[in-house]
Amino acid sequence: MTITTSRTLLWFRRQLRTHDQPLFECIDPGHELVTAVWILDPREHFAEIDGVARTGAHRMRFLLESVAELRASLQRLGTDLLIRIGEPEDVLPELMTSLEADRLCFVQEPGSEERATERRVMDRIIGRVTPLAPDTLLEIDDPASFADDLPEVFSKFRRQAEKKMEHARSRPTPNGLRGIALSPEFDRGEIDWKTLGIDESSTDPRAVMSFVGGELRGLERAHDWIHDGDHLKRYKETRNGLLGEAYSSKFSPWLANGCLSSRVVSEETLIYEEKRVANESTYWLRFELLWREFFRLHLLKHGTTLFHRAGPAGIALTYRNDPDHFESWKSGTTGIPFVDANMRELSATGFMSNRGRQIVASFLSKNLDIDWRWGARWFEHCLIDYCPAANWGNWAYAAGVGADPRGFRGFDVMKQARNYDPKGEYVAHWLPEELSNHRGMARHMPWKHGGPQPIVMPEESLDHARTRWERAATRRDEQRMF
Ligand SMILES: Cc1cc2nc3c(=O)[nH]c(=O)nc-3n(C[C@H](O)[C@H](O)[C@H](O)COP(=O)(O)OP(=O)(O)OC[C@H]3O[C@@H](n4cnc5c(N)ncnc54)[C@H](O)[C@@H]3O)c2cc1C
Repeated sequence: MTITTSRTLLWFRRQLRTHDQPLFECIDPGHELVTAVWILDPREHFAEIDGVARTGAHRMRFLLESVAELRASLQRLGTDLLIRIGEPEDVLPELMTSLEADRLCFVQEPGSEERATERRVMDRIIGRVTPLAPDTLLEIDDPASFADDLPEVFSKFRRQAEKKMEHARSRPTPNGLRGIALSPEFDRGEIDWKTLGIDESSTDPRAVMSFVGGELRGLERAHDWIHDGDHLKRYKETRNGLLGEAYSSKFSPWLANGCLSSRVVSEETLIYEEKRVANESTYWLRFELLWREFFRLHLLKHGTTLFHRAGPAGIALTYRNDPDHFESWKSGTTGIPFVDANMRELSATGFMSNRGRQIVASFLSKNLDIDWRWGARWFEHCLIDYCPAANWGNWAYAAGVGADPRGFRGFDVMKQARNYDPKGEYVAHWLPEELSNHRGMARHMPWKHGGPQPIVMPEESLDHARTRWERAATRRDEQRMF
């Protein structure tokens, strides 16, 4: 009697790791034959919006490093990772045929574009697809139904999560996998860095740290920052920092690409609490992971609405959208050092602190009166930790049209400078020539000390923005009454 062994194709998307891997839950590693594939979808990465490719060089480099390492990890486990460039709805049916695979497994993503791709794939491979629920930090049986009832306000969700829900446990990694035998001629696919426009040496010495993609580096960073560096115990006090590798975890590039699992990070904080100390800071990292979870569920709930100008809150602001002002914001030449330094850090390294992101997002949508989605798209191009849910969710929130749209959320840049960079060290780090004649807070307002005028005055432009926002919110409320 011949026993036929089933053959499964695992489609890796944003979980570029072998630890805590949801895809391994849908196979029987001892018996089933498996091969994995990762697909670079040109619509997601190469497509240009207003002349800018969706994925810039820093983000592409980190992503490709992560994929290369995933291939090595899967090979160590006994299978391989095929690499393709193309649209998944074309690539996957073809691969299923050439591998004689019986089944395709993938993890659903919360994003509306990603879900549309999933539907097209399912339409092409009818009846042989096992879609797994989106990966969550919390124990949630059915994330889609849970998202339908998600509170609009984060603090409500947090209370619900902390009172009634558990953090899910990380999944075990199989000791080995049985790979589908591939002939030597079978095209495994390679990544040609040069064709993709990536210069491998393009890391900037001014960066907060060197970010290298892949799960080993992600796990290493988690261990080094939490345990060896002992930074977790002061995280709440340091997390608004701007310079250096220690002020915050810097886990985001690995988390966003799925090289590091949020469940594992949460577990590591609990181990740390047991071994060293449990305090507000150690709790605060889990609190931030809950923000991440909230935005993922929020995107699942709102779908394409999150990408509309009026956002999920439906506040239809109109913007002046001056293209020259947008260029100045992007290139870090607004004349306001705190904004410019952050924007230059972003372009040079693909990373920016959370404090910086909040300041520049507020400045674009409020002071410059520019559609927040232009900024979100630039971030999408640049950020090595780009994640649709966190990026668009935070941008909509900052613009006052997203989750929790309470009141006007404009940041006073000078107040931010006094609180977070009173000696002007951060701005001097990124704008050394422009600020060489200034010291301390004077570095934040060179126009008051003989320097050139900025493109807008921070206080006045913020006041105008407040008036515009209040008018739009009143109009929205009046319309809702009728
Ligand atoms: C306009 C704007 C755009 C953003 N875009 C992204 C993005 O594309 N990808 C992304 O991962 N984060 C984004 N963030 C959230 C946040 O700025 C980054 O997660 C954080 O700066 C990453 O640094 P860290 O890992 O050191 O964070 P830590 O302070 O160490 O936090 C630990 C982890 O918690 C999560 N987290 C923290 N704050 C948030 C938040 N506000 N929303 C969602 N998750 C959070 C991240 O996964 C982060 O790695 C954005 C914030 C703003 C204001």
